Amino acid sequence: MTNNTLLLLPGDGIGQEIARAATQVIDALNQSQRTAIEVRTADFGGTAYDRTGSPLPPATLDAAMDADAVLMGAVGGPQWDDVPRALRPEAGLLGLRKAMDVFANLRPAVCFPALAASSSLKQELVEGLDLMIVRELTAGVYFGTPRGHDPENNRVIDTQSYTQAEIERVARVAFDLARARGGKLHSVEKANVMETGAFWRKVVTDLHAKEGAGIELHHMYADNCAMQLVRAPKQFDVIVTDNLFGDLLSDCAAMLTGSLGMLPSASLSSPDPTTGRRRALYEPVHGSAPDIAGQDKANPCAMLASLSMALRYSFAGADAADVLDGAIARVLADNVRTQDIANDASTVVGCTAMTQHIIAQL
Ligand code: NAD
Repeated sequence: MTNNTLLLLPGDGIGQEIARAATQVIDALNQSQRTAIEVRTADFGGTAYDRTGSPLPPATLDAAMDADAVLMGAVGGPQWDDVPRALRPEAGLLGLRKAMDVFANLRPAVCFPALAASSSLKQELVEGLDLMIVRELTAGVYFGTPRGHDPENNRVIDTQSYTQAEIERVARVAFDLARARGGKLHSVEKANVMETGAFWRKVVTDLHAKEGAGIELHHMYADNCAMQLVRAPKQFDVIVTDNLFGDLLSDCAAMLTGSLGMLPSASLSSPDPTTGRRRALYEPVHGSAPDIAGQDKANPCAMLASLSMALRYSFAGADAADVLDGAIARVLADNVRTQDIANDASTVVGCTAMTQHIIAQL
């Protein structure tokens, strides 16, 4: 495998601890010659603000645009609550996503067999669950204009808006994923009551006719999808949906699988016209967990599963990703757990020891 550069942004709170875990796992994978990843690090979030006055310093942004992939820990914390909004750690993250133009947000919901009993649903409904939600991340109602307060008429406006190109590019990501997985795709909107929903359905249907060979396409209303996710989640393989519905449905699907400390994500751009590579930002779904930061209590699994997604989608290392996913699953099956996912019979360990157990299983 050729050398690949990964920019690691530890960020704030437990971000620092789980980033250390990721570095140790990459070292182990490199030593066993499964990967040849060069890790660079940069300041980001509140930590960067304290050092440089900006949560996303120009040097960090340059390094992100230069890297083959970015792996981010978490940002934020109460110590930055009074910082002006534009300089808050979370503003740095929004700025990074925007600059990288990562419009397709991939949120897998995988139920590790060892954690099936801790789901809020009956074990048989979630055992073996493995679905992927592709959420459009940079358009739709969170960005559409006009927006804001219209004092003259005493009303408030948000605008849901999508162009054909914005729908097609995220649908293409979903097509690629569906092809690489089980071949089944659900496109989710509210075509019955929303103009954007009807347009979304038409654009996806037309694109499927042109580029969707081998993919079984279904359309589903978003409210029905929410119901089906908690009724029979295993009917889904890949779901593609807009920014707002994706925000809700991905949190709903993810929590079927257990703890916040287990959930990875990836955000991808369009392929570069010359190299064919997509810019990619990988990050756990959880935040900086200030309540446990610095105490070696963080669960590193979401971060390591995000690293696994980086291996799979950015470094063409499906084998290495399978090895890492397998190692995490075996440690959980041995009932070695961090506090957040422990049961009465677990051997409870900290972030450092959990990481060492996973490395031992690689
Ligand atoms: P949080 O995800 O940080 O924590 C919620 C709860 O889950 C806490 O009790 C925490 O201890 C626990 N938790 C989270 N991750 C864990 C892990 N890996 N292992 C064990 N337990 C874990 O959410 P919050 O408390 O609402 O936010 C804290 C800060 O994080 C805020 O400043 C918020 O803005 C920020 N935040 C950042 C991101 C991000 O960086 N992508 C996402 C969400 C929140």
